[in-house]
Amino acid sequence: SKKNGNSDYNCYQDDMADDPTRKMKIEKELKTALDNKEFTLKYHPQYNTKTGKIWGFEALIRWKNPELGSVPPDEFIEVAEKNHFIIPIGEWVLDNAMRFLQDLYEQGYKGYSISVNISVIQLLQDDFVDTVINTVDKYNMPYPCLELEITETLMIKSFNLVDDKLNYLMEKGIKVALDDFGTGYSSLTYLRTLPFTTLKIDKGFVGDLTEKSVQGDLIASIIKIGNQVNSEVVAEGVETKEQLDNLRRNDCDRLQGYYFSKPLTKEEIVHFLLSEQKQ
Ligand code: C2E
Ligand code: CA
Ligand code: CA
Ligand code: CA
Repeated sequence: SKKNGNSDYNCYQDDMADDPTRKMKIEKELKTALDNKEFTLKYHPQYNTKTGKIWGFEALIRWKNPELGSVPPDEFIEVAEKNHFIIPIGEWVLDNAMRFLQDLYEQGYKGYSISVNISVIQLLQDDFVDTVINTVDKYNMPYPCLELEITETLMIKSFNLVDDKLNYLMEKGIKVALDDFGTGYSSLTYLRTLPFTTLKIDKGFVGDLTEKSVQGDLIASIIKIGNQVNSEVVAEGVETKEQLDNLRRNDCDRLQGYYFSKPLTKEEIVHFLLSEQKQ
């Protein structure tokens, strides 16, 4: 994704991630980042394919550190998972994402959902379910407006441990998305064994749609599989009209990508919704 030119991090280079002193600095700076209020969230609109209206937003964390500058999540989440800082960071993300949604509702923008990325480290905590339920209750929001995105590749070792938790949350009405679908080793096994409501096709597949090759059929098949197991299918990384048309033809339920918008700040989202309403 970095090579595709994610414009938030133009200065990022792959070799920086392998620099051991940078890794150590990241680890050190992460310790104080929450207290120093160095994190923010951006919100990436997801569209209902049929209506063309915004369905909701994916919350994406941003970190700006005085010494390191902007550090992309692809670089620091892994470190935060290793030293378990991801637990308080993840709680902060969930809390702020729910507050964002409550704010929107209070300003009259109701009916939207928020998708929050959850690390498997968080899922494995004994109090994970309580934390999620308590946070939704704290903001007095309906459970179905929250979707948890869980990355497929990380589930490999632990899915028997999280099965009950996910089932419980889904019974409450909370949605669970299998993120980065198609990138793991046993995607089809998860479809049989894991509870989830949503299948999120990795942007790698969507990116390939421009080449008009076998990939179009592949994505059509993935969408069909999703429909067959009764889950909503979301495509991320939609950048071109061609990709949009293909995904629409193939009945993909939701779309997300730079074609519509970059991830936006809360203030930008409010402007965005205001202009959408006026249309
Ligand atoms: P992800 O969950 O697969 O999120 C989608 C990533 O693709 C985001 O990158 C988003 O900005 C980017 N993206 C969306 N549409 C397009 C597009 O059309 N073109 C291109 N080139 N990119 C697009 P981002 O924000 O850098 O996040 C990277 C990864 O970091 C995420 O991948 C997710 O795994 C992780 N992450 C982000 N925020 C959080 C968080 O709050 N908690 C956890 N645990 N992980 C997070
Ligand atoms: Ca995600
Ligand atoms: Ca992805
Ligand atoms: Ca991911």
